[in-house]
Amino acid sequence: MRRIGRFLAILMLCVAGMAVSAAAATVMIDPGHGGAGTQGAGAIYPPYMEKSLTLDVANQLCAELNASGVSAAMTRTGDTALSLPERASIAKNSGAKLLVSIHFNASSPHDKTGSAVWTSMFGNHYKVGAECGGQILSQLTSLGFVNKGIWTKAGAQGDYYGVVRYGTSLGIPTIIVEHCYMDNPIDRAILERVGTGALAHADAVGITGFFSGPTGQALLNGTLDTSAANTASTAVAISAGSGAGGGSSSLKSNFTDAEWQWLLSQWAYTGNAEAVMSQVPLADLKALIEEHNRGNI
Ligand SMILES: [Zn+2]
Repeated sequence: MRRIGRFLAILMLCVAGMAVSAAAATVMIDPGHGGAGTQGAGAIYPPYMEKSLTLDVANQLCAELNASGVSAAMTRTGDTALSLPERASIAKNSGAKLLVSIHFNASSPHDKTGSAVWTSMFGNHYKVGAECGGQILSQLTSLGFVNKGIWTKAGAQGDYYGVVRYGTSLGIPTIIVEHCYMDNPIDRAILERVGTGALAHADAVGITGFFSGPTGQALLNGTLDTSAANTASTAVAISAGSGAGGGSSSLKSNFTDAEWQWLLSQWAYTGNAEAVMSQVPLADLKALIEEHNRGNI
């Protein structure tokens, strides 16, 4: 999930509290991004929009899993904006044993290729993520993508990536599958040759393969300890005004007027931009401005 992808994911972070529900499912498939406007699009490299690609793959993956006897459901089935905590809450409410977030990658020089999986750095959450992710990656590799491996990243609150952190804090092993680089000609050529159905099939074979192994079986029958991990015990209970080091007036002092107005515009769709921005680490806001100044956003 390169920077812009991450920032756009951050843009989707909004104050939690919306009621979420879902049908019972063993695997919750989360099509990354979604919602109106560029805020929800994820990476955009015509003719591709990440939010559409992720939904396309997720639809096919969900259908294939259900057909193969692994019950699956989706966090969104339309072009809907969901915060990262909401995605994890939907998985929790469905009783899911595994949360699989579907993404596509991009990089500024457009020279990066390959498939990667991000997961939690904690205990059995890592074990599940690495084993399931490894099976998915070996399937994606067979399509021609470079295997970039299993990754974890630490942040101030535990796992760096929000959907991993929130999923893990609810006791649900979570992976982010970055299928390929949608801005790179090599990866695009593979994507166009094999089609999104092949990517969904790769995910499905990887997931069902994982569940048929000892770790997957233990996860299914409840003998694998996946109790909540992460230091951020309140990760899902986001409330306004407790984030990036103080109230929004002190937050504002870190930016020029023009930068502040631009930042506000990024979260305007939430109806309470300042409250949402106060949840985002200051370093991330600064980095967002940097990317904006470079013309990347
Ligand atoms: Zn993404």
